[in-house]
Amino acid sequence: MQTLTVGLGERSYPIHIGQELLGEGELLQAYLPRKRVAIITNTTVAPLYLARLQQTLQAIGVSSVPVVLPDGEEYKTYETLNLIYDALLRNRCERSTPLIALGGGVIGDMTGFAAATYLRGVPFIQIPTTLLAQVDSSVGGKTGINHPLGKNMIGAFYQPQLVLADTDTLNTLPDNELAAGMAEVIKYGLIRDLPFLEWLEQNMEKLMARDTAALQYAIARSCRNKAEVVAADERESGERALLNLGHTFGHAIESGMGYGNWLHGEGVAAGTVMAADLSQRLGWISARDVERVRNLFERARLPVIAPDLGTDKYLELMGLDKKVEGGKIRFVLLKQIGSAVVYGDVPPELLRQTLEACVH
Ligand code: NAD
Ligand code: MG
Repeated sequence: MQTLTVGLGERSYPIHIGQELLGEGELLQAYLPRKRVAIITNTTVAPLYLARLQQTLQAIGVSSVPVVLPDGEEYKTYETLNLIYDALLRNRCERSTPLIALGGGVIGDMTGFAAATYLRGVPFIQIPTTLLAQVDSSVGGKTGINHPLGKNMIGAFYQPQLVLADTDTLNTLPDNELAAGMAEVIKYGLIRDLPFLEWLEQNMEKLMARDTAALQYAIARSCRNKAEVVAADERESGERALLNLGHTFGHAIESGMGYGNWLHGEGVAAGTVMAADLSQRLGWISARDVERVRNLFERARLPVIAPDLGTDKYLELMGLDKKVEGGKIRFVLLKQIGSAVVYGDVPPELLRQTLEACVH
């Protein structure tokens, strides 16, 4: 097991990463003094891991209220959030009753927001079970739900007390979900960790074959990168924006194709290739660098060519992006491989070239 800390002063918390952590009651014990907890999960994850977690809790004398929600991004809504509140109220959960999120990013984000708001805030523990959740969404305290007019538009910054990433849970993850999480792993290498990127280039086949040691290393290194960024800029007034490499294009792909048709990580992969292409057009990186980015995503079995939505449609979709300031799109781009910047002065002509060159 490896342990990292997200350094946020009084709100600092540990991330434990390793095998069989769902069975490690001692890791949870200190956070459950009242011997009662609510576990928020979904219909896919519950049959796989809920009983195991409940047994572990029972063994340390903790009773649990399970709340099993429907599965899917389309349920990351106000209505589903209300199902959580209903269950908590009906079971008389108190301000001292922690919520455990057992699942992927959807469950983590919704549970976190429920924890931030139920009785004005209750303790919150993340047990992420997708690669994306283990390397990204469970760390950093962004919580929330979708609104019909936009993804993640309602939410709060609310940090968990503990993150337990059990790498064994990844064995049941569908291949495309593993790949989608890998897009965010590659992102950390590209934006701020060249040695990690080189390690990924040497180990991608091992990772995709779910080699436990390789996965544990990649998850820990990813979490360390995210933790450093979050510690420096919790509320995204600066450096944290770099985590959005490929996301401006990626969100346009996701929403242009209709949410759910492209996984987020798939959009990020094709979107990052577009960001690399644009960086090259600005003269910052070479054609070989762009090829290097494309290769690594391909080896992670991710799409590297964006769908042809039409340039104007892309521009329109990107205009709706949250990262727009004063009418200009602020892109996260690569100054070099391993180093990203936020840049708001992209000449429109270069952007159009990228939008035409990277699609089919
Ligand atoms: P997800 O939560 O929808 O999980 C993907 C699928 O895998 C779901 O069907 C889920 O039930 C299933 N699943 C989960 N664990 C499994 C397991 N161990 N075995 C088999 N199936 C399993 O998607 P995700 O990619 O984990 O997360 C995406 C969400 O995370 C989005 O809503 C996104 O907005 C959010 N997100 C949040 C942050 C943040 O900082 N808070 C960062 C990135 C993404
Ligand atoms: Mg992302």
